[in-house]
Amino acid sequence: MNTRQFLGLDDALAVLRSTVAVLPASYETIAIAAAANRIVARRVDAPIDVPPFAASAMDGYAVCTRDPIFNGAPPYVLALHGESRAGAPLRDAARVDHAVRIFTGAVIPPRCDSIVIQEDVERTGDSVRLSERPRAGSNVRPPGHDVARGTALCDAGTRLGPFDLAWMTACGLTTIDVRAKVRLALFSTGDELRNAGDSLGSGQIYDANRFVLQQLLRDAPVAITDLGILPDEPARIEATLRTAAAAHDAVLTSGGVSVGDADYVRAIVERLGRIEFWKIAIKPGKPFAYGRIGACHFFGLPGNPVSTIVTFLMLVKPILAQLGGARPDAPSTIPAALGVDVAHDRGRVEYQRGAFANVAGRLVVEPTSDQSSNRIGSFRGANCLIEIARDSGDLARGDTVAILPLTGLLS
Ligand code: AMP
Ligand code: MG
Repeated sequence: MNTRQFLGLDDALAVLRSTVAVLPASYETIAIAAAANRIVARRVDAPIDVPPFAASAMDGYAVCTRDPIFNGAPPYVLALHGESRAGAPLRDAARVDHAVRIFTGAVIPPRCDSIVIQEDVERTGDSVRLSERPRAGSNVRPPGHDVARGTALCDAGTRLGPFDLAWMTACGLTTIDVRAKVRLALFSTGDELRNAGDSLGSGQIYDANRFVLQQLLRDAPVAITDLGILPDEPARIEATLRTAAAAHDAVLTSGGVSVGDADYVRAIVERLGRIEFWKIAIKPGKPFAYGRIGACHFFGLPGNPVSTIVTFLMLVKPILAQLGGARPDAPSTIPAALGVDVAHDRGRVEYQRGAFANVAGRLVVEPTSDQSSNRIGSFRGANCLIEIARDSGDLARGDTVAILPLTGLLS
């Protein structure tokens, strides 16, 4: 195979990154409780200090280090006056040369500036004995200690995770402006394909790609229109692409972008709009097509399921995120040592399904079973993709490779 004229994966990504602009801003205001994984439309600033008041970090006794009693040398015996509990502050002022019983999260009484933890005092009836001089500010959380009013809780382009949402909730917010979901039309092509649940005729197989793509997009801010399976009939494919492109931001298909007699999809996109590129130096997955039909982006994935999955993860998922306004981020890679020899022909970057483990403090990775691109089974037991560089030859056990943990790729 002459792979020299194929576009490198990084080049393909660079073209996609620069041609796929963020969708024209369309925002919606939604409940924070429903905002997981959505993309922040506008920076959110903290409306209040958290905590809103100076609070005690410990259970103990509040004192004022400027009180006359502390002019002398320790120990100090102070009479107790009053109590400040979380949610029930001391009602009157703290008395000079007295201590106030206080609990974690309670308001520091006015005048007090130090909390002596209860383990450090000797309590006798209504007085406490401190054997050391209290330090101003000890165990005091100033207002805004967690979040200061006006600080950015999250910037535009952030994909909201549990901690962002927790932070906003802790500031009392209940709604947030997020970007509209990307409208994506999805279909599979192939005369041989049937839906799970239907019976199989001779030569037929079940459509795996549409289902796995939906699963891979489950948490993404994407609204999928499932257009089902299309047979290899140019007229139907053309009509479907035309209407889908008019009503969606992107169309995602699998199958029919290769060079076989029944591979019509690419030629039809070329007729309706244009194809930017369609051969990428990646294994599995060489026939990956990207184009435009009007303002709609077209992503044509290869038919073999593993090729579909790998090209989707490496090329489509990040670009859909960009389209939806997310700040770009590259999947994290980790170096690991190969546990076995791995053969590789130069020319295409390869992503093998692998399993890595910590072996005596070192990450060791091995490919899972037979790596043929039709075998979804190669994901069995896999927890990463093993990246083998385009220009790498065969690799030997012990060689270092980059691995992409599936936890990162799938999130
Ligand atoms: P194609 O790219 O259409 O030539 O398909 C390449 C291979 O992938 C063929 O063996 C197809 O039967 C298979 N294939 C295509 N689409 C799917 C699908 N949705 N689910 C499972 N296998 C598929
Ligand atoms: Mg086909």
